[in-house]
Amino acid sequence: TRYDKGLAKSRKGFGAKINALLANFRRVDEDFFEELEETLIEADVGFETAMKISDELQDEVKLRNAKSKSDVSDAIIERLVDIYENEGQDEDNTLHFASEGPTVFLFVGVNGVGKTTTIGKLAHRYQQEGKKVLLAAGDTFRAGAIEQLAEWGKRVGVDVVTKPEKSDPAAVVYDAVIKAKKEDYDILLVDTAGRLQNKVNLMKELDKIKRVITRELPDAPQEVLLALDATTGQNALTQAKQFKEVTDVTGIVLTKLDGTARGGIVLAIRNELHLPVKLVGLGEKMDDLRDFSPEEFVYGLFK
Ligand code: GDP
Repeated sequence: TRYDKGLAKSRKGFGAKINALLANFRRVDEDFFEELEETLIEADVGFETAMKISDELQDEVKLRNAKSKSDVSDAIIERLVDIYENEGQDEDNTLHFASEGPTVFLFVGVNGVGKTTTIGKLAHRYQQEGKKVLLAAGDTFRAGAIEQLAEWGKRVGVDVVTKPEKSDPAAVVYDAVIKAKKEDYDILLVDTAGRLQNKVNLMKELDKIKRVITRELPDAPQEVLLALDATTGQNALTQAKQFKEVTDVTGIVLTKLDGTARGGIVLAIRNELHLPVKLVGLGEKMDDLRDFSPEEFVYGLFK
């Protein structure tokens, strides 16, 4: 699948543990479900989500009268995929584009989670598709962030709007939006600084950025994408809850999934945050970004 390389660690960790549990399977009893719950929690699925999966699986195993290893294995895989597909109405994991004029994606998330890298990767993707791509270096706070984005721009061959460090991010975004409109760019990707330490300021800053965008492009931003680092496990969930309070997040970019053996965080995000994962980062290079597909993900874990 498209996740072959990037899921190697999780396959050896999370996937192998579930497979081992099934390999030693004798019958479906309390011990079996206890071990399953432990395995899920260890894989960053989270307590609440692990219990839910386990409970639903118990019902299903009874209902189907599942007895064999393969019955149970099928039921587990279906449950994991279902967490995505049947939980609520907002399971749309596709990215949305403007029907007319420039599309704007705003990237939020704390330092180091991989926002800038994700923007670079997406710029590459759209550039390859023949779209006219513009980047806005709206993280004017973190030292080096502007240069890093400019570097990505050079590497993938797209334009970048910058201002000096400590400038008002909304001013950078304003310049970028005007340029995108005037020069017919197809897509504008906006980097921001994610300082959760001061939620009120962050909220104001993001509101201001959004207002600047909406004034010029009423339907934008089409996406507000929150980047979360998969290797930080339950911390990522806490961050996401805080960002949800600060701004309207439309989807998650789960980065560094290649760096964890506990890919279960994907399930926790779905079940506990009710936010769709739209993109996953599977490495540091420009090609290491995938659209998220729950089925491919789950099958990728256990194959
Ligand atoms: P930002 O502060 O949110 O903009 O984060 P950066 O984009 O600067 O990324 C921080 C570090 O994470 C950099 O060293 C990136 O190369 C690395 N990184 C970002 N995405 C991924 C990923 O999907 N996989 C791996 N292994 N590293 C990543």
